[in-house]
Amino acid sequence: MTENSSNRFYEKLGVRRLINGASWRTVLGGSIMPPAVVQAMDEASRWFVDLNELNLKAGEVIARVTGAEAGLVTAGSAAGMLLEAAACMTGADPARVRRLPDTTGMKNEIVIQRQHRVTYDRSFVAAGARLVEVGVNGPVQEWELHDAIGDRTAAVAIIVAASKAGALPFSKVIEIAHSRDVPVIVDAAAMLPPVENLTRFVSLGADMVSFSGGKGVLGPQSTGILCGRADLMEAAYMNAAPNSDSIGRAAKVCKEEIAGLVTALEMFVDADHDAEMAGWRAKCGHVVSALAGIPGVRAELDDAEPELDEYQRTSPGVRVSLDGAWTGPSPQEIVDSLAEGDPSIRVYEPDHRGVITISPVNLQDGDEEILASRFRRVLTAE
Ligand SMILES: *Cc1c(COP(=O)(O)O)cnc(C)c1O
Repeated sequence: MTENSSNRFYEKLGVRRLINGASWRTVLGGSIMPPAVVQAMDEASRWFVDLNELNLKAGEVIARVTGAEAGLVTAGSAAGMLLEAAACMTGADPARVRRLPDTTGMKNEIVIQRQHRVTYDRSFVAAGARLVEVGVNGPVQEWELHDAIGDRTAAVAIIVAASKAGALPFSKVIEIAHSRDVPVIVDAAAMLPPVENLTRFVSLGADMVSFSGGKGVLGPQSTGILCGRADLMEAAYMNAAPNSDSIGRAAKVCKEEIAGLVTALEMFVDADHDAEMAGWRAKCGHVVSALAGIPGVRAELDDAEPELDEYQRTSPGVRVSLDGAWTGPSPQEIVDSLAEGDPSIRVYEPDHRGVITISPVNLQDGDEEILASRFRRVLTAE
């Protein structure tokens, strides 16, 4: 708590601290880097180095921890998606690299199941690709994916996020795409932890995989991890900063960020993830008990349930629901009044049934107590 109690820079600017009960979200500051990561960035800031040389060495670390043939530090998972699309369209042809986002003469279609559409998929489009959506309502059929793949298909995309009910399973998509000689590109931005996911999608046959570096890995907010097949990764390098004629130049990564990401990644691989999970559960438990016994309010632990989800839920949370007996503020009013205070407290927006979710992953020690008592006060109007 002490190191959080004052901050000259933000106070000078008049920016409030917030308590982040809404997980790793860029708009809320992402994550907090461990001191060793900040120190690595500080040290990296003191030398000039050749960025290409640094990229290659950092890429070797990524390749080692992911089991992929090659790796690259990106400016976030969205930037990784841009480079995946670019690499699959240009290959190692410098003329094509120079031409993007004009895709004249290139395969430029990226096939994606309807259930995998996310706001971030426009990063594929930003490279010049066109999305070809598969599926209507109900489960996607194998023949629908086959039918969408054609002469102009550059890649099939998979977005790995908590729940993709009705989408074809990961390994089925790989099987179908590879039977047509089309690479599979994956966005698994928020799927770390569990640490097993670092190698999982590569070992299942994905050709390129993109992760965020600034979510559960606790690297700089503006970094990401890209890994995959050597030929496609060479194409990704060509399409990336520091090359001034690349589409990826607008998403550059500096030497300090590369140092921070590599340090965070190595720490993430060695971390005690069971202890971390236990800490998250304890924070959830504190909030659940603090909200107990209020008529019309039900607060419960929503545990990570890996066995129920092929992609593995990454972390526990607290679900707060209001029943028919509730006469107090609406779920949106509750969320708004938590956000208005100082420190501002952010939790997930209510879902379509009015359930408010709290994530423990970004609660710094002691935050759970402030969050729980303010939440109780808002509910009981004490
Ligand atoms: C967070 C997220 C991204 C963007 O990742 P950044 O590292 O912030 O660029 C992309 N896709 C999904 C599914 C995400 O959750």
